[in-house]
This record gives sequence, structure tokens and C-alpha cells, in this order.
Amino acid sequence: MTVSIVIPLYNEEENVGVLNRRLKETLDRLGIEYEILYVDDGSTDRTPEILEEIQAADNRVIVLSLRRNFGQTAAFAAGFDFARGDIIVTMDGDLQNDPNDIPKLLELIKENDLVSGWRKERKDPFFTRRLPSIMANWVISRVTGVKLHDYGCSLKAYRRDVIKNLRLYGEMHRFIPAVASWYGVNVAEVETTHYPRLRGKSKYGLSRTMKVVLDLITVKFLQSFSTKPIQFFGPIGLFSGALGFLISLYLSIEKIFRGKAIGGRPLLLLGVLLIIVGIQLIGMGLLGEMLVRVYHESQRKPIYVIKKVIGQQNK
Ligand code: UDP
Ligand code: MG
Repeated sequence: MTVSIVIPLYNEEENVGVLNRRLKETLDRLGIEYEILYVDDGSTDRTPEILEEIQAADNRVIVLSLRRNFGQTAAFAAGFDFARGDIIVTMDGDLQNDPNDIPKLLELIKENDLVSGWRKERKDPFFTRRLPSIMANWVISRVTGVKLHDYGCSLKAYRRDVIKNLRLYGEMHRFIPAVASWYGVNVAEVETTHYPRLRGKSKYGLSRTMKVVLDLITVKFLQSFSTKPIQFFGPIGLFSGALGFLISLYLSIEKIFRGKAIGGRPLLLLGVLLIIVGIQLIGMGLLGEMLVRVYHESQRKPIYVIKKVIGQQNK
């Protein structure tokens, strides 16, 4: 078993040295084959120089420097692209996660495709971080159907094929377990230690909550309808169009058979609006269907994932 550790770093000059020392202690004790990928996410402090020194002293360390600050998700994605291990472990670079938890994760990954850390006793401010996080985890678990206590914990372990099939966008790294569930992965959760941030500043605030909500909508949509968008837009479009048609029919009867004036009635506006919206939604669904075909067929991406094939076919 070879393990790649992926760690995003943005202005963590005070933390990288200690982090690297603790990490190596743990990994050397385990006696496994490993590599550590530090992804410098466009740091403006001394992080890149310190990383270079660390790398010069140890060829199991790989340093990726991004050209600018692309964000934590992009930093993870870069690390994943370069990782060569059978197992990929991610963690934060601010010493809030404990490298000593890695053995626990590696033990569990033997029977699972994905192991997620759970910061049961999280050491972050309550109102700005923990409370929003409790609510977010509850909602995400319900909506995506993948029940985890702590989506936001960076300390996670993945099997290689889970990660290599994945494409990450925006701020989606926290949703990897939900996105990966599309492949039919089994997910385990393990309690991990969490420390307060002692050095350096947190890069996030309360504004992240809204981003998480929007990402959740995207994830849910992709999870349920990414290969059949018309099934999402279609029903709403049909309903809207049918209602608009009935209203317009009623108004037409009023006008033609009863000779009433309908030009000033609000209902007329509603009927017309519903018909137009209905047509638009169905049109959007059809466009979506075309996009799905372009996406899958241009890249030869199947709409299924095979676990294994037993038996041989004669050619
Ligand atoms: N990080 C990064 N790019 C960013 C923001 C954060 O690589 O744009 C890294 C950061 O250096 C740290 C990890 O992501 O290693 C988690 O960030 P932070 O500790 O600020 O998040 P929090 O623990 O407060 O949620
Ligand atoms: Mg942190």
C-alpha cells in the first residue's frame, strides 16, 4: 500500500515546519511507502521558501506551487492530479488536524472506499463556525443521502480510483463524499482530534455558509439529474404550461362565447406568463439533454462505473 498525503497551504509560514516534522514522525513510524504533496496555493509569505527547504532535504516530499491563490478546492485538485499513491489522504496545513489520526484512517480504508474524519470536539468559535457547520452537515446529509457528521473536516482518506474519477469545481472539496456516492462508494466515518488554530489566520468567515448552500444545490442537481436534465425541468415546465393553457382557454371562452372584455384582467397576464415559462423550462431541459450528450460522447465518458468484470469475452 502506497500513500499520498495532500496538503493545501495558503500563507502558513508559521505552521509548515512543525507540520512536516509531526507528519514525518507518524508516517515513518507506520513503516509504509509514502509521498507528501504540499500544494502552495499562491502564498504571499515565506511558505514557498520553507517548502523548498523541506523538499531539498527529503525526496519523498513534492511541492506544487500554484501561480496564484486558486482556493482550497483547486489546491486539492492539483494535489490529486499529481498523487501516485493507492490511497490518498488529505488534511489541513494549519495544524488543526492531527497527523496521528492518519493510522486510524488507513486502517478503515482497507474495507471502505472513503473514510471521513469527524471533528467531534471541534475547537473553533461556536457562533461563526460550529453552529453553521452543524446545520450545514444536517442539511447536506439529508439532501444528498450521504450521512456524515462533519463534511467540512479536511482529514479524509480515499482510494485512488474514487479520486481519479472525480472532477472538482468551485468550493466543492467538502462535497466529495456526496459527489463520489454517485459511483456507489462505501463511506466510513472516524472520530479525529481537532486543535484550535494557534498560528496564522483562518481563511474563511461566515460568508462561506452561503457558498455552501449554493454548492449544495449544484451537487444535489448533478447527483439526481446530471444524465437526465429534462426530468428536472420538464415536469415543472409541463405543469406551468398546462396551467397557463387552462387559464387562457377559460379566458378565450369568456371572450368568444360570452363576449366579455378580458384585456384588462390580471389573469390574462398570468396565463401568458405561465405558458412562456413552461416553454422556456422545457427548452432548457432539452438543451440540457444535448449538453449531457455532448459531454459524455465527446469525452467517451460512460454513464456508469464498473467495479469489476468476471469472465472473458471471445473476440
Ligand atoms: N487554504 C488554501 N487556499 C485557500 C484557503 C485555505 O490552500 O485559499 C488552506 C489553508 O492554508 C489550510 C486549509 O486550506 O491549510 C484550511 O484553511 P483554514 O484553516 O483557513 O480553514 P478553517 O480550518 O478555518 O476552515
Ligand atoms: Mg483551519
